[in-house]
Amino acid sequence: MTTTEPVIVELPELAAQWARIRARLQGEVGDAIYRTWLRQMILGGMDGDEVTVTLPTRFLRDWVTSRYGARISALWQSENAAVRRVDIRVGSAVPGAIPRDDATCDDRTFYAATVAAPSIEPAALTVAAVYPPQTPLRSPATSGASTQEDRIEPRSDLAAALDPRFTFEGFVVGKPNEFAYACARRVAERPSSPGFNPLFLYGGVGLGKTHLMHAIAWELTERTDRRVSVAYMSAEKFMYRFIAAIRSQATMEFKEHLRNVDVLMIDDLQFLIGKDNTQEEFFHTFNYLVEAGKQIVVSADKSPSDLSGLEHRLRTRLGCGMVADLHTTTYELRISILEAKAARAGVPVPVKVLEFLAHKITSNVRELEGALNRLVAHANLFGRPVTLETTHEVLHDILKAHDRRVTIEEIQKKVAEHYSIRLTDMSSARRARSVARPRQVAMFLAKQLTSRSLPEIGRKFGNRDHTTVMHAVSRVSELMQRDGSFAEDVELLRRLLES
Ligand code: ADP
Ligand code: MG
Repeated sequence: MTTTEPVIVELPELAAQWARIRARLQGEVGDAIYRTWLRQMILGGMDGDEVTVTLPTRFLRDWVTSRYGARISALWQSENAAVRRVDIRVGSAVPGAIPRDDATCDDRTFYAATVAAPSIEPAALTVAAVYPPQTPLRSPATSGASTQEDRIEPRSDLAAALDPRFTFEGFVVGKPNEFAYACARRVAERPSSPGFNPLFLYGGVGLGKTHLMHAIAWELTERTDRRVSVAYMSAEKFMYRFIAAIRSQATMEFKEHLRNVDVLMIDDLQFLIGKDNTQEEFFHTFNYLVEAGKQIVVSADKSPSDLSGLEHRLRTRLGCGMVADLHTTTYELRISILEAKAARAGVPVPVKVLEFLAHKITSNVRELEGALNRLVAHANLFGRPVTLETTHEVLHDILKAHDRRVTIEEIQKKVAEHYSIRLTDMSSARRARSVARPRQVAMFLAKQLTSRSLPEIGRKFGNRDHTTVMHAVSRVSELMQRDGSFAEDVELLRRLLES
């Protein structure tokens, strides 16, 4: 658009022509391609002999221009002899329709925001307003009971192999993961339920995100006798597949494969940060599937709102279903997981060893599991039973890495702050409960988080005897068993100190 006066008078007529062109295109290319690529085109307006059509992304614009640009021009000319040129360009959202942070997850709002028009020019905005896209949000072909063709098998090249150990049965549930577990179960039982689509699982490394995703996939495929097709892949793999598809000019096939699945799971979405084109592609696939009533499950290391490198509209969209957090493990959960894994290990592992591991390796379940596996492998190899002694020996390197650099002074400071007592009371002789209990907690944490011996710890607490430290450790453990909120307090302190 170069001149100043857009031809507003002709807009209704133009819109009617555009509607006919779209219908003809749809007839020519078929529903699937039309929905994938062309539906999002929106009429910008007409200026002189040039018609503007916009698409929401550069990627879509390039694709449509290269494949259908000539055809779209020809159709325009057959509809309207005055049209000489068709400008297919990238259009952002209509001002005001852009989802804000508080944007609702209503499909229509979102739809308007993603496909609405483009141009910064008033005339174009008018056209968008009088000519909203009429495509239904859920096409009957894809939303109702799925036909046999809908339920195609996942293409083996698109679905990564699922780990047979990662089932719901093999997942140990505790406070930190019970919500995520319940959500995953729910999605596996009733995919695409309102409120659970997408399911967004997030949490730190090794806390069970991948495990839960595989569990959903296993459950779904088994329960439905493989009638529900599930594609699971890491975001990284998604990107490589996508790039490979572009290189071999097979993006259509890539899209078609993905758009034919009933459930799409993308693991470690944070990988797409900074990979704009892939993000774009994922965004469109995502929208397509959600509109078609298909389930999406995504995992990442942070919550949608904290994934600041992802496009805003994608983050908004990701937060629209159910967001479930896998919290860092508690001592209790680590013990339960170790017990479950040890029970299947084939060699007896003493409780003392499990407790020791649960105390020492707190960062993630993968490392915990790795440590246990190593002990078991060692026991099998040398025919020696697992004991605390062999544990120290075999896991020497791991334990060293886990020897936190946190000092007793730091522990005392944090604990004193937490309980609002003076730092000097950590080594004072005062025995009032209000200072004695925090002091015991600090001793307990010093025993757990440092490699100092009991006498060394005692010395740092006003030259107390090692038996006092021992007593403090057992007293705090005992209280943690009995008093949930006290246990949470101590766990919180531990996490603060470890981070
Ligand atoms: P993430 O994907 O969050 O990094 P994974 O799902 O790969 O973590 O989990 C790491 C390892 O820990 C896997 O072997 C997994 O089976 C195990 N794991 C994690 N959480 C649990 C749990 N609650 N119960 C049993 N195993 C678990
Ligand atoms: Mg993972």
